[in-house]
Amino acid sequence: MQQLATDLQASVEDAAAHLYVWALKDIPQDLRDALVDAQARETSVSGRRVLDTIVRNVDVADDAHNLVCQDTGIAVYHARVGEHFPLHPARIYEALRDGTARATLEHPLRSNAVHTITRENTGPNIGYRLPIVHWEFVADWDGLDVKCVPKGSGSENMSFLKMCVPADGVRGIKQFVLESVVDAGGKPCPPGIVGVGIGGSADYAMHLAKEAIMRPIGTRNPDPLVAQLEDELFALLNETGIGPMGLGGDVTVLQCHVEHADTHMTLNPVAVNYQCWAARRASAHISVDGTIDYDREA
Ligand code: SF4
Repeated sequence: MQQLATDLQASVEDAAAHLYVWALKDIPQDLRDALVDAQARETSVSGRRVLDTIVRNVDVADDAHNLVCQDTGIAVYHARVGEHFPLHPARIYEALRDGTARATLEHPLRSNAVHTITRENTGPNIGYRLPIVHWEFVADWDGLDVKCVPKGSGSENMSFLKMCVPADGVRGIKQFVLESVVDAGGKPCPPGIVGVGIGGSADYAMHLAKEAIMRPIGTRNPDPLVAQLEDELFALLNETGIGPMGLGGDVTVLQCHVEHADTHMTLNPVAVNYQCWAARRASAHISVDGTIDYDREA
């Protein structure tokens, strides 16, 4: 049992080390398609020029086997842990942290992690409570899914929270998302994915907004009311005219994804977490026997 746990921990570490670099270099197909689609529908000259440059940037990264952006971000993981996966989450966390550090040192990657007060570097993209892991536990399953979503600071700085009141309703939610995106302007390197979290509590709404940006582009929330809100926000945000990199144009966002939780009857929290055009994402499934299957599109 101990040997199995040790081997599994090594597999999770290997997966994390691969996922972090893979995500930074090779963006998923749904994002590539969304950027090419944006390029085709953009009518402003400056916006089109920006999108041409972004698509060229992706091609150059492919050809040179290099990063799509210099900001290697904060390593954020989403771990779906099966009830019968025989490695404790404490060890899964260790493996994700060690894999992040290994990738940073071996590639090498820029290390962004600093102490919040001293601003001194805390290590190879690790530190106190870094990397960040979102956990989900799945009953009647023995696998582990890990998704790595490196998050650049330009877009993470454009995160917003408002405790709307219930009387503000869906209209208040839409207004806050719109105001947030307008205030952000060109700072989060648009066009990207606007993640919106609604309901729960203040902290959980932001957690949900981060989960929203981790989904493949254009997927819709299974709740039809939430999916309708995603459609409406997507159309609304692209009417702002902010355009690629804030230089004006038709394409301000590639998509808007919304995640929700039920909430208190007197709460109506809304959180916005922006993901830039370099919406990097890479996933792996780890089986009980330690086999790793990398999944390009999850
Ligand atoms: S916001 Fe995104 S595209 Fe802009 S510099 Fe940061 S990682 Fe790169």
